[in-house]
Amino acid sequence: MKKAFVTGGAGFIGSHLVDHLIKKGYNVTVYDNFSSGKKEFISHHLGKNYFKLIKSDLLNQKTLEQSLKDHNIVFHLAANPDVRIGMQKPEIAQKDITATYNILDAMRKNDVDKIVFSSSSTIYGETPPIPLPENYGPLLPISLYGAAKLASEGLISSFSHTFDMQTWIFRFANVVGKRGTHGVIVDFIKKLRKNSHELEILGDGKQKKPYLYISDCIEGMLFGFEKANDQINLFNLGCRGTTEVTQIAKMIVEEMRLKNVKFRYTGGKRGWKGDVPQFQFDVTRINKLGWKAKYSSDDAVRKAIKDLLQTSF
Ligand code: NAD
Repeated sequence: MKKAFVTGGAGFIGSHLVDHLIKKGYNVTVYDNFSSGKKEFISHHLGKNYFKLIKSDLLNQKTLEQSLKDHNIVFHLAANPDVRIGMQKPEIAQKDITATYNILDAMRKNDVDKIVFSSSSTIYGETPPIPLPENYGPLLPISLYGAAKLASEGLISSFSHTFDMQTWIFRFANVVGKRGTHGVIVDFIKKLRKNSHELEILGDGKQKKPYLYISDCIEGMLFGFEKANDQINLFNLGCRGTTEVTQIAKMIVEEMRLKNVKFRYTGGKRGWKGDVPQFQFDVTRINKLGWKAKYSSDDAVRKAIKDLLQTSF
C-alpha cells in the first residue's frame, strides 16, 4: 500500500492534492498545524480508513518523527503562504526553513526516501523580462518568502545527495481556484464586498504574472512526479501567458456585476516590498515531458473568480 504524508494537507493546494492522491489509491496522512489550513477542506475524508489527520506543527520534531513512521513518500507543502508577511514577521522565514529541515531529518530517521516540494517563482528574485528556465542564475530572491523557499530547495537537494533520497521540486506560478484563502483575487473580492464603489490596488496595477489554475497545478505536479525519475527533478510549473493586476480587478468587477467602481492605486511599481512586479516562466521542461496546463493565465483567473465568488471568506 502506498502511504503518502502530506504536510500542509489542510491548506488550499494541499487539500486538493489529498483528494487526488486518494483517488489514485494512496493512503494519506495530513500533518498540519491549521495556521492557515481549514478542517472543512478535508472533512469529507475524516473517519475513513485510508485517511489520518495529525494536528501538529512541523517544529514539533518528536511528534513529526513518530507520525512519519511507515510512509513511502512526503509531499511537503506546509509553509506560510503569504509573501507579504515577511515585512512584518521576518521570523516566519526562519520557521519555514527549520520546518523543512525537520521533515528531512524525520525522513532520514524513518528511511523515507522520496520528497515532493512546493517551491515558488519567488526564488528567481528580480530578473530580466524573459521566460525564466529552471537553470537561470544567480538566484537572489528579494522576499523572505522566496529566501525560505530557496533555502529549502538547498536543504532538500543536499539531503538527497547525502542520504540517497529522491526529490521532485516544483516552482509554482501563482496558484488560484476553489478553496483559495489568500492572494490578489481573494483580496479584491473581500475589499469589493466591503465597499463596492472603490477598490484599492497595491502598486500601479501593472504587475504581470502567470496564474495557474488549481487542477492544473495538482495534475502537473503529479505528472512530473510520476514521469520524471532522476535523483533531483526540478520543474517550473506554469501556464500560457500572464495577467495584469488591473485586468484582474476589471474581471472581478465584471463577474460581481458592479458598475462605476473607482480604482485607487497606492502607486509604485511593486505591490509591497519583496513583490516582483513582472515575471514569466519557461515551462518547456515539463511540456517536453508531456504535460501542458489546460488553462491560460487569463482563463485561470476568470475561473478562479467564479469559484471564489461562491465563498464567504
Ligand atoms: P495554505 O496556507 O493554504 O497551505 C499551507 C498549509 O500549511 C496550511 O494548511 C497551514 O496550516 C500549514 N502549515 C503552515 N506552517 C505549518 C507548520 N509549521 N506545521 C504544520 N503545518 C503548517 O497555502 P497554499 O497556497 O495551499 O500553499 C501550499 C504550498 O505551496 C506552500 O508551501 C506555498 O508556499 C506553496 N506555494 C503556493 C503558491 C500559491 O500561489 N498558492 C505559489 C507558490 C508556492
